[in-house]
Amino acid sequence: MSIAICQVRKLPLKTLTALLLSTPLLATAADANSANLSPVIERPTRASSVLPVGPLGYSPSHMDKSVNPRNDFYAYATGNWLNNLTIPDSETDIGGFALLKTALKQQLLSITLRAGQGGYAKGSPEQQVGDYYRAAMNTARQDLLGLGPLKADLMQAGAASSPVELARFSADQLKKGGAPLVLGWPMTDIKDNTRMVLMLFPGGPQLEQTQYTDPAAQRIRDLYLDYIARMLRQSGESEELAAQHAKAILAMEAELMAPRLTPLQSRDPARTYNIMSLAEAQALIPAVDLGELLKQMGVDPAVRIQVQDLEGMKTLNRLLSTRHKEDVQILLRWSVLSGNAGFLGQPWFDMADEYQRKRDQLVRSEPREEQVVDAIAMQLYHPLSQLYVKNYFPESTRREVTEMVGHIRQEFELRLRSNPWLDEPTRKAALEKLSRVDIQVGYPKTWIDFSSIDIRADDHLGNYQRIAAFNLKRELDKLPLPAKVERFNSPKYTTPIAVNAAYNPTYNGIDITTAIVQPPFYTPGADMAVNYCTMGAVIGHELTHGFDSNGSRYDAIGNVRNWWTPQASSEFKQRTQLLVNQFDGYTVLPGLVQSGNLTLTENTADLGGITLAHAALNRALKAKQLPKVDGLTTDQRCFVAWAQLWTYKARTERIRLLASTDFHALGFLRGFGPLRNLDAFHLAFGTKPGDPMWLVPAKRARIW
Ligand SMILES: [Zn+2]
Repeated sequence: MSIAICQVRKLPLKTLTALLLSTPLLATAADANSANLSPVIERPTRASSVLPVGPLGYSPSHMDKSVNPRNDFYAYATGNWLNNLTIPDSETDIGGFALLKTALKQQLLSITLRAGQGGYAKGSPEQQVGDYYRAAMNTARQDLLGLGPLKADLMQAGAASSPVELARFSADQLKKGGAPLVLGWPMTDIKDNTRMVLMLFPGGPQLEQTQYTDPAAQRIRDLYLDYIARMLRQSGESEELAAQHAKAILAMEAELMAPRLTPLQSRDPARTYNIMSLAEAQALIPAVDLGELLKQMGVDPAVRIQVQDLEGMKTLNRLLSTRHKEDVQILLRWSVLSGNAGFLGQPWFDMADEYQRKRDQLVRSEPREEQVVDAIAMQLYHPLSQLYVKNYFPESTRREVTEMVGHIRQEFELRLRSNPWLDEPTRKAALEKLSRVDIQVGYPKTWIDFSSIDIRADDHLGNYQRIAAFNLKRELDKLPLPAKVERFNSPKYTTPIAVNAAYNPTYNGIDITTAIVQPPFYTPGADMAVNYCTMGAVIGHELTHGFDSNGSRYDAIGNVRNWWTPQASSEFKQRTQLLVNQFDGYTVLPGLVQSGNLTLTENTADLGGITLAHAALNRALKAKQLPKVDGLTTDQRCFVAWAQLWTYKARTERIRLLASTDFHALGFLRGFGPLRNLDAFHLAFGTKPGDPMWLVPAKRARIW
């Protein structure tokens, strides 16, 4: 779930993790990594994961009124719901967001099944979605082919050792949507967004950085080691050799991952904006011939290159130059096998499935058809989105939300004008930036035309690879100048079928997806207090992302440029430090606290979002409260609705992973943490000094 600041650019799915420069509303680095294992984690059909959910949106029946809101507001607002929610066997967590995703998946599945009946024109969204589905569900054919379609790739991996061979291997994998050793992908130059650069990243490891070292992750390392060994045995290695190779692979991955940028570091331009020529980039990694890589990709060698992670690249070079070539080759073979496990037939599929299920501590896997729908949503994202919009998005809802965007934006403008701590030059620049935020609701003005991709009903792996090649070519064609800004096109984060909203600082725009414009985020005709403090707060969250500690580095047209006076910067820092201190004090598991620094941008946006939504609601009501409903005042319903949005529980390891990788605080902290900074919250529930929910006025962060 991502009320995200989506700086995520379109990349091969398997490499998204390396690049999370961004903060989605809900999506996480961990989510992105789950796409790492294989393009489609297909599993045998089992019982559906559809859940009995009760009201998905705001409801007083979700509250536990036996709890005093002054003691534990989150339990008061969400307690009954939480007590009745069980984490499904096939999931790592549950909450309003997860339930909406489940409901969405059923909608997408029904569209897909209809398309799968066939009879549609070649290249139409229905034909592509339908035939992709049929090929993915045809397990008999995948069993028949087995490892066959990968023979050439495995041979190439097993023979590559010279810089030219390693470059060719990388380019081939990139074109096929695989896991290259060095990954090249065009992106907007963050300091001059009229042009593009070729970003280079080191590829490789499959676990999260902390999972290679964290003592608490030993269980995951053991599972991973066992998984590698079993896959290698399946590919024909002896038991002894497979065990030996698995150890070497784990050790190499840990070595590669150790010096890499942490999630927080990876979005700091001071660390990542390393622009250089091909010769300069080559000096970092002589072990891979970058000239050959560019040649194979069809990229002009005069291109400007940005190396995102200098130490990561140097470490890859060191490993390639010092390890035996056999070790490197086994690492490459492993990346081919693991990246394609979902396409190779049942034995492979089952191993990947079991590993992932055990890793995530799930009792059972999702039914195969649901996993295939997930894969289609990630790959044929615009064709499936087109069908979704046509079936599930009334134009009236789009109009209503667009109108709400206007109210929230106006509220922010008024507050910037009267803001007591901004000095005049910074205020002027902030107003200019706000006036240029381009907010779009639902779906893009122009869809990406996927119709030229040949999607066949009997070629699962081929479909995946042709889509990957199409995406790469589309992106490379933009070099060196961006053709235009494209919207709603980041799979997982901003396509219309992603449950998300996202701010992108590089073009100062917000995408609010079709999928998020439904309960619990928006209910047509519902209580204004509820719709403002859910969807309105999401809009406010995204708007203020342009002004959080990350977004404020970018100016009104989306370039990294410091437009803050030193005085305004220092005022801003003092205020956000209060949030850091607050969240540093919250415990997520025994002995584990939330990191206030890691989650600062999102906490700032949550606070900004609910502040703007509450103020805009009261302005729309001309400060008169609506009649009480279910015994709750307008303001009380507003804050309860906000808390219910973040109803959340998760398995222990999921919490541990999110606490180390997610820019968002855990849901159960988002539900009440930001509210404690609002005077109106304390007034609404009568909190007093000494109450656990009380926060002394001097410690309340007052930012926007
Ligand atoms: Zn966000």
